[in-house]
Formats: sequence, structure tokens, C-alpha cells
Amino acid sequence: MIILEVKNLNKFYGEFQALENVNLTVKKNEVYGFIGRNGAGKTTTINSILSLIDYQSGEVFFDGEKVSKRSMHDKRDIGYVPDVPSFPRYLTARDFLGFVYDTYQLPKEDKDQAIKTILGRVQLEDNTKKISGYSRGMKQRLAIAQALIHKPKLLLMDEPTSALDPMGRKDILDIIRELKKELTILYSTHILEDAQKVCDTIGLIEGGKMVFEKPLKTIISDREQAYYMRTVEPLEQVLRTIKDSQLVTDEHIYNGGIVYTLKDAGKTLDFQRFLNQHNIAITYLQPYEKSLEDVFVEVLHENRH
Ligand code: ATP
Repeated sequence: MIILEVKNLNKFYGEFQALENVNLTVKKNEVYGFIGRNGAGKTTTINSILSLIDYQSGEVFFDGEKVSKRSMHDKRDIGYVPDVPSFPRYLTARDFLGFVYDTYQLPKEDKDQAIKTILGRVQLEDNTKKISGYSRGMKQRLAIAQALIHKPKLLLMDEPTSALDPMGRKDILDIIRELKKELTILYSTHILEDAQKVCDTIGLIEGGKMVFEKPLKTIISDREQAYYMRTVEPLEQVLRTIKDSQLVTDEHIYNGGIVYTLKDAGKTLDFQRFLNQHNIAITYLQPYEKSLEDVFVEVLHENRH
């Protein structure tokens, strides 16, 4: 079942077209990774979905209803974590969430318990510091907490891990895994390693246009089989030689060896013969599992031609 659908979204900043016919389909209870380079159009898309900015044409459907640009009510069941969250520095997390809770006019009698539960979910329950003393990771977790206070069905997160160190990123990914059990998440990122860890579906945007939208599993398995080999010969020289063979593609040095993909899977023996003829002895060979990052680089490279 689809929870969010964006159809043919077009956005211009003056003369510059930032989004060109962007389409997105997010299914209920999935984590959707909206990936793309800096400036690809991720924030512009998220801001358009939330009507934080105006767009020239296109439609947004949330939970089966067309979202009107002017109505706040249509977006009430969406939680939003901005790319640069900002807070009143002099409050504690508990005070700040109390303030957010009140602005939603939620039942007073549930307030304390609701805030306690949410603080627990983002690992800030015992924290009595003022927000001014928070690390970036803590602020990011508080931003998630404020987005959850009204129990949204969909959480939109704009680059939630980009400014964090590896431990901070891990905390956020753990929270995403937990939240996934009860709501849908669309999160944008250019950190593909993170997206590969938690996403079910990946949408890739480049230059304001969607390149693909597919389940993560198929993106990685769709690509041709790559191999990783080691040899005692100098790697740079071997790389140049195998490039000349015209039999391989995407060849590069990696972790003390060479990763390559055969242009034609039926040419394995030809490639073996080629290596023998050039006195390249393979000391180690195994299939190489491509990462989302490898696929990203390949797809953007193909798109350039
Ligand atoms: P980042 O990760 O850097 O935030 P992004 O994928 O979120 O990248 P956007 O911020 O959506 O990209 O920007 C898309 C394009 O629109 C970029 O070329 C950017 O320079 C341009 N852009 C964004 N906001 C504005 C604006 N207010 N005025 C003019 N151009 C803008």
C-alpha cells in the first residue's frame, strides 16, 4: 500500500529548474532512501512535499489524499526532521518537547508519559542539560523526538546523519530501524553506506531528475557480476594491461587487488587466456559484492554518456 506519492513535480528557482518531473512512490512501513549528490534536489523535493516552498507544477498524495499546498491539516500525520534543526538553546529537551506537545494541542493528561516515552526512544531520557550543551548527535536525536510527538504515520528526514561522526550516525540508524516497526520513513542522504544499512527502497535523484527508484536488493543484484583478484605483479601495470584487453569494464584498484567486471559474462576463458599470455599470475580470485556506492558511481557514469 502506498503512503506517499509525488507526481511530476517541477520546481524553478527563478530561471533555474531544480526539479524536472520528479516522481516518487513510498510504500507503507518501508524505509525509503532518497539519495543523490549535493545539489541534486533532495531538500527541494522534501520541502515541496511539505509545502514549505511553492512549486510550479505537480501533485503530492499522502495516505490516499491529494495534499493541498495551503492546508496544514493535510500534512498533520507527517513528521519532519530538517537538515539543520535549531532549538531554543536555554531549554532542556523535556521543556522543549513539552512546548511542541502543547502546540499540537494533544491531551494534557498524556503529556508526561508521551514525552518520557519519546525521550527514551531517542536515548535522551535522563538528560537534564540545556540544549545549548548538546552535541550535534544529541540535537539530531532531539529533532527526531520533536517530529514524533504527534505520532505521525510518515517521517521525512532530510540528511539526518550527514553532520555526524560514525557513532552519532550509528545511533540515528538504530533509531530508524526501531521506528520502522511502526511508521514509514523517507530519508535523504548522500552517505550511501548508511542507506545500504537501513533502506528497503532507493530513489536516486541527479540534476533534479529521478534516475531510478527500486528495491535495494534488486539494485545490487541487477548489476553484472564483479570480481576481485590479487596478483604479485605491480597493480598499476596490471590495471593498464587488462584495460587494453577490451574484455573488462569498471576496473579499479581496491584493497591490495583489482576489482573488474567482464563486459561479456561468457568471456571468462578468453580473459584467463589473456592473463596467461601477459604473464599475469592470479594468486586470489573471488566474486566481489558491489556496494550501493559502486552502483551509484556506475549509474551516474552511464548517465553522463
Ligand atoms: P544538499 O545535500 O547540498 O542539500 P540537495 O540534493 O538537497 O543538496 P537542493 O538543496 O534541493 O539539493 O538544491 C537543488 C538545486 O537547487 C541546487 O542546484 C541548489 O543550488 C538550487 N537551490 C536550492 N535552493 C535554492 C534557492 N533558494 N534559490 C536558488 N537556487 C536554489
